Amino acid sequence: MVKYDTVLIRFGELSTKGKNRRDFIKRLDSNIKWMLREYPDLKYQRTHDRIYIKLQDENPDEISEKLKKVFGISSFSFTEKVHSDIETIQNEGLRIAQETDRKTFKVITRRHDKTFPLNSDGINRAVASVILKNTELKVDVHHPELEIQIEVHEEDTYITYEKIPGAGGYPAGINGKCLLMLSGGIDSPVAAYELMKRGIQVEAVHFASPPYTSDNAKQKVLDLAQMVSIYQGRMKVHIVNFTDLQLEIYKAAGDPYAVTLMRRMMFRIAEQVAEKNGCIALGTGESVGQVASQTLESIACINSTIRIPVLRPLVCMDKVEIINMARKIGTYDTSILPFEDCCTIFDPKNPVTKPTEKKAVGYENKFDWQKMVSDCVEHTTDVVVRPEEKEEVFL
Ligand code: ATP
Ligand code: MG
Repeated sequence: MVKYDTVLIRFGELSTKGKNRRDFIKRLDSNIKWMLREYPDLKYQRTHDRIYIKLQDENPDEISEKLKKVFGISSFSFTEKVHSDIETIQNEGLRIAQETDRKTFKVITRRHDKTFPLNSDGINRAVASVILKNTELKVDVHHPELEIQIEVHEEDTYITYEKIPGAGGYPAGINGKCLLMLSGGIDSPVAAYELMKRGIQVEAVHFASPPYTSDNAKQKVLDLAQMVSIYQGRMKVHIVNFTDLQLEIYKAAGDPYAVTLMRRMMFRIAEQVAEKNGCIALGTGESVGQVASQTLESIACINSTIRIPVLRPLVCMDKVEIINMARKIGTYDTSILPFEDCCTIFDPKNPVTKPTEKKAVGYENKFDWQKMVSDCVEHTTDVVVRPEEKEEVFL
């Protein structure tokens, strides 16, 4: 068997140039090192458009699973590093072809070293000709079963044939900070993943209503936060004690408008927590039409209370698609644990689907919510979750 001892990493979404490009690569490089921190013997090399990792005796499957979680990688391949001379390159190409059971092939070469005696096309032909001469494989330039990729550098050449898709997106943390409203449900952890994929650093705010909501419910949210934190590193969770305000809302608004008011208050509190913590946007797991509070009219009536932008990565996704994503990122089984949420505790029977601003404000005028909102903002409990630790650190 050929020993693939180097991982070749390709970047995605690198349309940006200059300083942004350098920041992208630097952040990606450090995120990869962080993700592979359990493997101290790996050797890294960075060029302007690739990162190479030299393995010692690490298990390639384990490395592969970890790399699939790093945003900003478009694809990667396990490759063999050989000396840059055409005979060695031909021999290695032939060896790959001889070891495969595939029937058709194509050779693709990138020549970084322009002084190499053959150009890319010449290298393609040289390698293809030895394969055609010594095996049964046929060339298929459009849909080859085997694609041999060759990258020629001055000293070394990398040869590979398998491209493993990366997670795509931008390296976690390069695009500013967002405060995600994290419930214990299925949607918001998926929203966290999608935001992180855009390179956004995610902090979370959670509304709890003890004693109506239990410690188990809170723990479930922290567990979910920890699960998604593997994609960005440590994650701060601000827990808001929402009980008093929620009880007042129910007194003031009654059944149909309770959820509308509750969410307007949540948004106001979240906006202030965001400002206090340097977050430039809010995030939610809302999806249009999913429940009464997510009709367009509801979204408008709730959003009008704040000025900060709200990112809703799931806004047009079907529930089935969201569930599939939750399964993929590993949060689904925890999300469906049957603990009460502050929204379900005071579950109204007839929530309004087309709330108006005028009516909402009318109900709000019945009590001094401003003071209660400020109290909630001031008295959050802040917790940091870390991917590698089961224990949370209370700040
Ligand atoms: P999820 O599955 O994320 O709980 P959902 O379908 O149950 O969403 P809602 O309960 O209407 O929908 O919540 C919509 C969004 O509001 C959630 O995705 C989340 O961003 C936010 N949210 C709801 N409840 C809470 C809470 N207790 N704490 C923080 N954010 C919340
Ligand atoms: Mg919910």
